[in-house]
Amino acid sequence: MPELPEVETIRRGLEQTVLGREIAAVQILYGGNIKAPSPDELQAGLPGRRIVSTGRRGKYLQLFMNDHSALVIHLRMTGKLVFAESPACPDKHMHLIFSFRDGSCLAYTDVRKFGTVWWLPLHRLDEIRGMAGLGPEPLSDDFTPMYLQQGIQDRKTNIKGLLLNQEFLAGLGNIYADEALHLAGIRPDRPASSLEKREVASLFHAIRTVLTDAIQWRGTTMSDYRDAGGQSGGFQERLRVYGRRDRPCGSCGTPVCRMVVAGRGTHFCPLCQQ
Ligand SMILES: [Zn+2]
Repeated sequence: MPELPEVETIRRGLEQTVLGREIAAVQILYGGNIKAPSPDELQAGLPGRRIVSTGRRGKYLQLFMNDHSALVIHLRMTGKLVFAESPACPDKHMHLIFSFRDGSCLAYTDVRKFGTVWWLPLHRLDEIRGMAGLGPEPLSDDFTPMYLQQGIQDRKTNIKGLLLNQEFLAGLGNIYADEALHLAGIRPDRPASSLEKREVASLFHAIRTVLTDAIQWRGTTMSDYRDAGGQSGGFQERLRVYGRRDRPCGSCGTPVCRMVVAGRGTHFCPLCQQ
């Protein structure tokens, strides 16, 4: 599933392509992903609106319109947004095609159909409960070592489970939680409350470093993630533990181990993360 760096990469691609374009028509080939309004209302209401800015909150993508509304998309497992300068040829996984006045288009495809789409006035965005309840953005000033320290103090959960909790911190998923814990030298199954102060400080920096590097490398492509231009990411070459079971740890060369933590397949180095 795309995590913060992949969604941010897509957002930056959209910033380069769809900004300023006016939607002329919406073709709905599969409306099951549209949570609000109804597919009919979206199809009738969105044409004539112009995209004036883009945003991201956690793993939610936002396209802001000139009428104080926003199209919000969560790609979940396999959702993709692909921009083309010419009209799209619908294929069987294409669900929505936003055609622009100038002949270009943005197509939303989703093989597994778990993605979700909303189009709402700005004052109603809180109805998207998953987005409204998100914790701070890890790369913003709202996320501080103090916040992390206070958050872990009374938690009974393990540290990986806490990092995956979107209400605690927005945007981390399985890949970057594993990579951040590895960089910080912390075993993923440690009780969150057992972390010492210096470990919390190093985890804070590790989270920021891993996310910043991954954005710079345009995200990680494990299977089918693509950015808005159809390009794959480059960070998979730089992963140190994630997806590397029995292969050498990217830091010390020890074979990487896998275990289940917080219900997720979790990779760690038994030497770097003692
Ligand atoms: Zn190692």
